[in-house]
Amino acid sequence: MKYISTRGQAPALNFEDVVLTGLASDGGLYVPESLPKFSAEEIQSWAGLSYQELAFKVMKPFVADCMAEEDLKSLIDKSYATFRHKAIAPMVQTGHNEWVLELFQGPTLAFKDFALQFLGNLLDYILKKRDQKVVIIGATSGDTGSAAIEGCRHSDNVDIFIMHPHERVSDVQRRQMTTVIAKNVHNIALEGNFDDCQNMLKASFADQSFLPSDRRLVAVNSINFARIMAQIVYYFYSAIALGAPNREVSYSVPTGNFGDIFAGYLAKQMGLPIKQLIVATNQNDILHRCISANDHTKKTLVHSLSPSMDIMVSSNFERLLFDLYDRDGSAISQLMDGFKSGGMALTDTVMERLQSQFSSYRLDDDETVKVIAEVFEETEYLLDPHTAIGLKAGREVRADQETPVVNLATAHPAKFPDAVKKAVDIAEPPLPHHMSDLFEREEKYTVLENDIQKVHSYISDAL
Ligand SMILES: *Cc1c(COP(=O)(O)O)cnc(C)c1O
Repeated sequence: MKYISTRGQAPALNFEDVVLTGLASDGGLYVPESLPKFSAEEIQSWAGLSYQELAFKVMKPFVADCMAEEDLKSLIDKSYATFRHKAIAPMVQTGHNEWVLELFQGPTLAFKDFALQFLGNLLDYILKKRDQKVVIIGATSGDTGSAAIEGCRHSDNVDIFIMHPHERVSDVQRRQMTTVIAKNVHNIALEGNFDDCQNMLKASFADQSFLPSDRRLVAVNSINFARIMAQIVYYFYSAIALGAPNREVSYSVPTGNFGDIFAGYLAKQMGLPIKQLIVATNQNDILHRCISANDHTKKTLVHSLSPSMDIMVSSNFERLLFDLYDRDGSAISQLMDGFKSGGMALTDTVMERLQSQFSSYRLDDDETVKVIAEVFEETEYLLDPHTAIGLKAGREVRADQETPVVNLATAHPAKFPDAVKKAVDIAEPPLPHHMSDLFEREEKYTVLENDIQKVHSYISDAL
């Protein structure tokens, strides 16, 4: 399978090169040239498969020309062996035809483990084959950093440097990163905010001369298509469990960078009968405004109780726009240039297409806390603030009561104790067993000034 850029100017690449390349040279994002399609009979025949078996069926066409079948199987098995729950992505019922898909059973308690456990193993596999080493630099406001570190800690061919804003991530989130003590894992606490971390990341990608000549940078954020691919699987897994392909299923997804819900959109294009895809946002609601009112103006970012969705520019939205604009790379190029300098207005046709594929809803912090309290009262089930936003959006926007709604639970409540404690009268939402000693573990990180020379010499000294 070939992969092409959303801006139409960069060369087409195969899967392996897409994984190593990140952003395309024309500034676009890579997408498959054409998607695999599965017939209803084929999906029917997958009923009862384990998560790993199903992952193999779904991912195979994306990687077929780069990887032997046995290799893909063993990468999948290795990646999901670190999950605590045997079902990998279990479901819990919270109401009539209302389900929570628990995507937090991986090592760092957030859905990002689904993609990053796989990506870590995949990079290791590709790099060993090529006898290459790479450097990963990531910027994190929380969940991505720990999931990336857990994914790469055992990779001999990867050195990983994760920058987080010093004293601005929660203790649980910091400790999940800094207590991983390994030769190839480096945590940098940057004296600045998350934007400073991201700017440092962008500047490092733009000029990689600080690296030894045999090394290059690899991106592990959700512009990496391998992450999206791995996330398609749990849409199939949950829908089949609820009766697909003979029954339609709807999804509500707490959304930030638009990666997770974009995977759902691809699942639908590939043949899964998805009725509604609901984009749920917090106060940083540019996607809700865009979908409901064609308002794509940037506003000041506010810090919410659901920090992993505090995002203004959702990179993966460009992948969707590419489809909505009939895959016209130069149209996307123009649109994104305009967006950089303020906003973008979509044409009527594009708005119609957008609204036929997606619904949306937004919640502020007070409403989020209310939902956590409400659902706990109804069911004694504890939601994390991100999941709460998705669940409420599902309740408000679902088209009917007959179609099951699956709400993606993107994080474990123990990861966001502040929001949970505001809603429910408990001392502290308990950490799962394997992490109960998190606060006793040794930490290792380096505080650095927000100065590119200092960061780069720290990195080159560590290699
Ligand atoms: C990353 C994240 C999100 C947002 O997912 P996107 O793919 O960026 O839209 C939502 N909730 C949690 C807990 C996350 O970590």
